Amino acid sequence: MPKVIGEVQMRAVVIHGKRDLRVETVPQPVVGPRQVAVRISNAGICGSDLHYFQHGANGNIVLREPMVLGHEVAGVVAQAGADVRGVAVGDKVAIHPSAPCGHCVHCREGRSRHCKSIRFLGSAMHFPHTQGGFRELLVCDASQAFVLPAEMDLADAAFAEPLAVCLHAVSRAGSLLGRRVLVTGAGPIGLLVAMLARLGGAAEIVVTDVADPPLRIAAKATDARVINVATQAAELSELIADTGGFDVAFECSGHVSGVTASIKAVRACGILVQVGMLGGDIAAPLGEIVVREIDYRGTFRFDREFAEAVALLVSGRLDVRSLLSHQLPFGEATSAFALAADRSQAMKVQLVFP
Ligand code: ZN
Repeated sequence: MPKVIGEVQMRAVVIHGKRDLRVETVPQPVVGPRQVAVRISNAGICGSDLHYFQHGANGNIVLREPMVLGHEVAGVVAQAGADVRGVAVGDKVAIHPSAPCGHCVHCREGRSRHCKSIRFLGSAMHFPHTQGGFRELLVCDASQAFVLPAEMDLADAAFAEPLAVCLHAVSRAGSLLGRRVLVTGAGPIGLLVAMLARLGGAAEIVVTDVADPPLRIAAKATDARVINVATQAAELSELIADTGGFDVAFECSGHVSGVTASIKAVRACGILVQVGMLGGDIAAPLGEIVVREIDYRGTFRFDREFAEAVALLVSGRLDVRSLLSHQLPFGEATSAFALAADRSQAMKVQLVFP
């Protein structure tokens, strides 16, 4: 398909319902005076994209109309509106997926991630849904386009969004210098958190999961001690018994077993940050939180951490590429989604737009 600005249509990856993902032609929005059109190059498949694919919903957010998925995207500016400053045609950019209202109490007080009218790429939270970034050309506010150095690899840049999630999660725990840190769940988020804990000077990092393949990647990418809690549960129990528990735990699995394990693994007066999304109500040993004075903290998306994530990626101090297991052409989106859901093979899967 020729890629000429001015065309009224382009191709995108659209979810229509559970297991119904289609690559189809969608209208191309007109570029407003303060907007840019970005030719998408690399787009990471996130757990929330997978949830829409597998369940037609992401937690309690249910898909009600066809929606372009995707919010981990990077590309090259193809067109800039008349009033755009600081971003130019030809610039490589990473896209901040959030467009908050800017006026509500949350926006005014610096926590726009909680803005009730936020538009987040590829989210069914509002109706009409906010169409996402798995498309040949994305039109967004110029303020959402973060300019990258010309030599930056856009495969790395597409990690800015999940890295921002993790920077915010880690900030919820305070300084990790000299801390003993547990990460439950060895998916891309868990591994990025472990990398940031390493960067933050953690004294010891343990990553747990119930599957060996992601733990093998975790060991290599993060240099953390890894424990398969399905087959070596005693190893973690002994570690906790010997040391009195972890100073900080990041629960990144989103599974009830991970929550229970984290509560038990944190030392008295320790901090537990819940990073994994929990669908609905879960049963967990909350009495432990009371009597051992555990500080149980949530974390949700990010705001200014997106800029920090971009700067960190540009610095080259994190080897995010070690988490990129597969790249597939966007036309093979259904195969890419099936692969992304297969933890025996995949860590981060990106769609590429040739
Ligand atoms: Zn707001």
